[in-house]
Amino acid sequence: MIIPAYVARNARKYPNQEAVIDGSLRATWQQLDQHVNQFAEHLACDHNIKAGDRVCLVLPNNYAFIVAHFAIQRLGAIVAPINVKLTATELAYIFENAEASLVITCDLTSDQALKACGVSKLPSLVINDMPAHATENSSGRQFETLNEQAITESATLLYTSGTTGRPKGVLFDHKALLFVGMMFATEMHYGPQSRLLSLMPFTHSAPLNLSLVGGTLVGSTHVIAPTFTPDLLLGLVQKERTTHFFGAPVAYLLTAQHPEIAHADFSSMSHWIYGGGPLAGDHARRVQQTFRSDQFYCVYGLTEAGPTGSLLLPNEHTDKAGSVGQRAAAFTEIRVVNASGKIADIDEAGEIHIGGEGVMREYWHNEQATREIFTDDGWIRTGDIGVRDADGFYWVKDRIKDLIISGGVNVYPREVEDALASHPAVLEAAVIGVPHDEWGETVKACVVLRETIDEAELRTHVAERLADYKRPRVYAFMDELPHNANGKVLKHQLR
Ligand code: ATP
Repeated sequence: MIIPAYVARNARKYPNQEAVIDGSLRATWQQLDQHVNQFAEHLACDHNIKAGDRVCLVLPNNYAFIVAHFAIQRLGAIVAPINVKLTATELAYIFENAEASLVITCDLTSDQALKACGVSKLPSLVINDMPAHATENSSGRQFETLNEQAITESATLLYTSGTTGRPKGVLFDHKALLFVGMMFATEMHYGPQSRLLSLMPFTHSAPLNLSLVGGTLVGSTHVIAPTFTPDLLLGLVQKERTTHFFGAPVAYLLTAQHPEIAHADFSSMSHWIYGGGPLAGDHARRVQQTFRSDQFYCVYGLTEAGPTGSLLLPNEHTDKAGSVGQRAAAFTEIRVVNASGKIADIDEAGEIHIGGEGVMREYWHNEQATREIFTDDGWIRTGDIGVRDADGFYWVKDRIKDLIISGGVNVYPREVEDALASHPAVLEAAVIGVPHDEWGETVKACVVLRETIDEAELRTHVAERLADYKRPRVYAFMDELPHNANGKVLKHQLR
């Protein structure tokens, strides 16, 4: 069945069970299904949205987002969730690239979105109270919905966050989303009793496809809030007795510093999930200690792969924290391919490929990029350099584009970042290549400290762990690093 058909199914199976908790709003599956239908009617009859149209959502994680997401898909239209932090110029680029028919926003996020709609001459719809908006604009008119079995139709257009260039639209059909959602529901043991906490923006593939879609397939409850803060994380886990949380590593590092964390009641939590980057070495150990849990799961992948490729399980963290696990997630395969196009030997570096039914269909209106990312056998080239160790574990060494070549020798920034982060005074570190007359590039460390230390002490710490050519020559101590909405460091800004 197509994705929104599971909302209808949940309404039949678990009518009175909570589907969404958004602050003081609590909606059951029956209510959610009704609001999705009412809003679909409004979109079809008042905004002329039809199958195949693109509707952009510039909304935080709120009830309106969830209703609109499923309503758009129910019509056979394509939902395009867009990062609310983008500027009007960036938004206008995406609206035009998507050839959107409508932009949905709310007062909290509408400032830049409405400017961009003006530039792009696009209609907009500002929704501040979703159940009321859906109910008041519906009167039982007839409208056309997508056949529930049409799973090969396009469903979602996700824009990459642009950490490596201009955002590209990644197009998924319902079938891919079904596989991705089922994969995660199976791997993370979601069920109707699960309560999934989503504080990372639904505009990113992991919160959207793994939590919102995955949880909806099996009737889990979605506990949401418009933004991530350590306060909200601690507050909602305890108040709503949530069971699962997905966050970028930085979300865990920030929460680990919260003054109340030692007294927080985490007894309801069965799965702490992180991804988008590693929680390497000491960081993983420190976070596990602070959260008093060994139920940490690492997810590796990229938007184009749905996003999941592989998983590092809790019991594997003791010896292999920093790796991305030894097996691909359900319905998925992973491999490292060397420069000769063969499967790489043990410890031989190559590009990581991900294959499976959950991968994207294509880049929106970008045939060349689509051709470049797919291998002949339909796998995704991740653009990550990786190795498989003798125990079968995969390690992401870095993104090919972030590799530093200093004096003709490769330096993997992540390895240097791990060495820096293993010092207890370091909260976060990002390593970049900066131009150097003699060596082409040299290594620069951008460091955020949790307590004051001398640069000399940090240099000694790194020197004990890394060969000379990998050591940062330049240090910049900063109050914070620039992050995108998903918690990733924006290295192009640092450069
Ligand atoms: P863009 O593709 O525009 O640069 P982005 O970086 O946000 O945007 P994503 O698809 O979210 O795009 O990022 C995927 C990349 O993040 C992977 O290719 C990999 O480099 C890194 N990554 C994801 N998960 C992990 C992980 N668990 N450990 C290490 N690296 C990871």
